[in-house]
Amino acid sequence: MAAHRQARPWLGETVTAQEERVPEYQPDCYLCPRNARSNGSANPDYHGVYVFDNDHPCVGPAAPTEPEQPLPPYMAQRANGIARVICYGPRHDLTVARMALENIAAVVETWRRETRDLGARSEVKQVLIFENKGEVVGVSNPHPHGQLYATNFTWKTFDTELEAQRRYMLETKRALFGDIIAAEQRDGRRILYADDHAIAFVPYFARYAYEVYVAPTRRVSHVSDLSDDQCESLAKAIKDVTVRYDNLWRQPFPYVMPLHQAPTDGGDYRDFHFFIGFLPPLRRPGTIKYLAGPEIGGGNFLSDTSPEEKAAELRAQLTVHYRDSDPR
Ligand SMILES: [Zn+2]
Repeated sequence: MAAHRQARPWLGETVTAQEERVPEYQPDCYLCPRNARSNGSANPDYHGVYVFDNDHPCVGPAAPTEPEQPLPPYMAQRANGIARVICYGPRHDLTVARMALENIAAVVETWRRETRDLGARSEVKQVLIFENKGEVVGVSNPHPHGQLYATNFTWKTFDTELEAQRRYMLETKRALFGDIIAAEQRDGRRILYADDHAIAFVPYFARYAYEVYVAPTRRVSHVSDLSDDQCESLAKAIKDVTVRYDNLWRQPFPYVMPLHQAPTDGGDYRDFHFFIGFLPPLRRPGTIKYLAGPEIGGGNFLSDTSPEEKAAELRAQLTVHYRDSDPR
């Protein structure tokens, strides 16, 4: 933590807020209903959530079966899988923060179904689901959507988390994430949302200024294991957090939002606690938190802010979206 640095002079690049007035329908958007996609097909006239195989997958079934073996100590193995796009709804302009609760719940239900179906396949070792939101994180199309990779390999972040949770269980006979939630509840200052089944908080160890975790309070290892009650609460928590984000600077708030879930390779993952991470790249309006010497070079994260301060800013926000409360 180096919160005293936040106000340091900044002569570097700033980014402008994304275009506010996005149309409900965009004729050349490849995600809007009925529009043409780059593979030549057209989207159906869909109403709820719409899932399709990514036309430009980063992992696909066409990966070389026998990659050329490099000289030792290097090693290579085939990486393949299924890449899908999850359109949250037909409206080009309706981000999660402004979606109705039942429509956010439908997205959570889609995550649950896709994880269950794809995770059941023997060749799929993990289902990675995420949303990249905003031009700052490289998304040029504002149509609300997430992505999914069901791969024949596992992802580093979740391997590390699994290892930490197992080690903690071995050493203390207690669940790490359960203890994190308990500590956040006892402290209370960093909690944004809480009900009987879900909690949202800026973690004590937040790296990004406005980093938020959203989690079911009762442990499940995969989003597919959530009960209906947990799904509903999770949707409420997601709505709460995204509305606070947009209200903070009265502009669409960019983030990367991964679902943290255990592998689906048949292993024992009872120590893994599923949660959703919100990782927003901005530390001030228009100012990106750049990763540089300490983070990329040293491998430690230098936070320019204090999580209590940033949580207080988010807690002070209304939970009605500014564009839904203002007269138009
Ligand atoms: Zn669109």
